[in-house]
Amino acid sequence: MTEKTFHEEYYKLKEKKNHKYYIDLAIKESNNSNGGPFGAIIVKNDEIISYGNNQVTVLNDPTAHAEMIAIRNACKNINNFSLEGCTLYTSCEPCPMCLSAIYWARIDKVYYANSREDAASIDFDDNEIYEEVRKDIKDRKIEMIKIKDTNAYETFEKWKNNMLKIKY
Ligand SMILES: [Zn+2]
Repeated sequence: MTEKTFHEEYYKLKEKKNHKYYIDLAIKESNNSNGGPFGAIIVKNDEIISYGNNQVTVLNDPTAHAEMIAIRNACKNINNFSLEGCTLYTSCEPCPMCLSAIYWARIDKVYYANSREDAASIDFDDNEIYEEVRKDIKDRKIEMIKIKDTNAYETFEKWKNNMLKIKY
């Protein structure tokens, strides 16, 4: 083995070990959860910047999924609305809400343990929402009706022309 391949192999192994370490911590969070059995952590530059576990029934908050809590805590901890350069480890494949939040937060990469099929097997079925997103707006289960003749777009124009806005 050349020195170069030795180093490559070494870093690959080290990386693999880190992923296992972090995913195990996310799973530990899921075991410690007072709500649903889900946990997540966020890592930046090899440092854990937040933990989260499901708090839906504890906080009476349907958005309090483990990933959402971890994202909120991470943003608070680094005092930034962007989590660019961060990796999220979650005990289960994110639902569509958390997936969207991950995109909004600009998280680089996601590692997960259980799949959405595993979640469905214990009655957490995200698939229905994935299907809804794909549907034409008029075919969705929850009705969505556009109200015409409002002045809502004026607010957008004001935003567009505001030189002091913080872009995100
Ligand atoms: Zn979720």
